[in-house]
Amino acid sequence: MKERIYTIPINEAFDKGTECPLCVCEDKLEDDALRYTTGPAMMEPDTRIETNKKGFCKDHYTKLCNLEQNKLPLALVIDTHLAEQIEALAGIYNKHEVDIIKESEKSAIRSAIDTLTGKKKVAGIAVSELAEKLESLEKTCFVCDRLDANMERLIENVLYLYEKEPEFREKFKNSKGFCLKHFKLLLIKASEEFSGPKQAEFLLDLIPTQLEALKRVQEDVNYFTKMFDYRNQNADWKNSRDAVPRSIEKICGTCQLKR
Ligand SMILES: [Zn+2]
Ligand SMILES: [Zn+2]
Repeated sequence: MKERIYTIPINEAFDKGTECPLCVCEDKLEDDALRYTTGPAMMEPDTRIETNKKGFCKDHYTKLCNLEQNKLPLALVIDTHLAEQIEALAGIYNKHEVDIIKESEKSAIRSAIDTLTGKKKVAGIAVSELAEKLESLEKTCFVCDRLDANMERLIENVLYLYEKEPEFREKFKNSKGFCLKHFKLLLIKASEEFSGPKQAEFLLDLIPTQLEALKRVQEDVNYFTKMFDYRNQNADWKNSRDAVPRSIEKICGTCQLKR
């Protein structure tokens, strides 16, 4: 089985009694990945090759920019990333520039003939190559990749603890379940890591706990809506005051929601 590097943070996250202990772990790993990006990673040539190539997603650009007052490390990373991307985009443009100029000078008759004979517009080729490049850039993120890899190892560690430590297994069973994203990851990882009977045993602990947790959250949201009925104006809110943000986090994991 894999290294047990995350044993302590996992136990601490489960002790917090939140709607998803794996979100607690993920927030910590994300913070580590963000700090690494503008910290030690900057001096690592291999990492710089990766950040130059991948860049970051919108969410992680935002978090990187808001992370530190000192913007110099981030500026250095963006500088070389942009330089590389400009070169790549210019490379595509330069390859087609002469043909684009020719196309722009084409007469209306020539253009009509080309359309009739099914000749592909050169501008269209350049556009699809540029769009493909931009699309792949939108999808790649150094922080997401690092976080996903570490989360995968963390979930392997959760399964290890579940299998080996009865005390942790009790914590797991008595938890408030997980957000849907991490529920899915647990299902997938368990099918990869566990033998048939072990996986089945795990599912018997996980799925009923998860369904019960979802039902509890849904009931809180339902109770919240009932509180807007004038007949309930003096009723107790019980556990429903934060039902909307809590239900959203149960559905999609940690978000920066106003409460
Ligand atoms: Zn989660
Ligand atoms: Zn990202």
